[in-house]
Amino acid sequence: MTASPSQGRIAIDGPAASGKTSVARRVGQALGLALVDTGAMYRAVALAAIEGEIALDDLEGLTALAREDSPRYRFLPDPVGEQGYRLLIEGRDVTDLLHTERVSTVVPRVASVSGVRAVLAAEQRRLGLAGGVVMTGRDIGTVVLPEAELKIYMTATAEERARRRVAQLDGGAVDREAAYAEILANIRERDRQDSGRADSPLAQADDAEYLDSTHLTLDQVVSKVLALYETRVAAAGA
Ligand code: C5P
Repeated sequence: MTASPSQGRIAIDGPAASGKTSVARRVGQALGLALVDTGAMYRAVALAAIEGEIALDDLEGLTALAREDSPRYRFLPDPVGEQGYRLLIEGRDVTDLLHTERVSTVVPRVASVSGVRAVLAAEQRRLGLAGGVVMTGRDIGTVVLPEAELKIYMTATAEERARRRVAQLDGGAVDREAAYAEILANIRERDRQDSGRADSPLAQADDAEYLDSTHLTLDQVVSKVLALYETRVAAAGA
């Protein structure tokens, strides 16, 4: 049966700062699909661990945090905001707290805990199976939602990803060279941890489309994803 746009499921996986969320947001708007950024859920658990002073080697404590929040994650569209969504947990809007350097540094450790992954992946799968979603993450095509109509593995060189992050920084007070060096180091470290972990590492699904955006604009990447989706949906209906 042909998936109508509102039922469709798109999985976009890729390394840190590869532009998944910006692309997913635009693709979601074009196709009427809700954006589910699974990285935000891992970030929310990392934030809760920092706020609750839970040690990163306290596997049960971290799993309990994920479980506590699990039924309460709500993604609301936010067309004008930086992320394109607001994430509410128990009615508390945590969106603006999730992208600090502190959270970015801690989150791969939290995401390597199998108990945390089991809780969040189950919740993500529930959101994905409902349909009408574009989901971004590291393991959506491989583990969370392998039945997605379209799977994309999106990447760019670490240097290009760091350059894009620096370009997003505002204010002349920022030392751009120092910021670039720090962001590049953080991206490389997160890539290493996300690709190297035992449970659901960052990986391209066998049937995912590989999309290297190093030399492409956001518009070009969005057009490619929309064209691929058209082709897949048409093929499914053939
Ligand atoms: O996508 P984002 O960079 O916000 O993800 C933050 C972190 O959450 C990643 O570095 C990774 O450790 C973890 N993550 C994950 N599996 C996902 C999504 C994110 O392990 N599906």
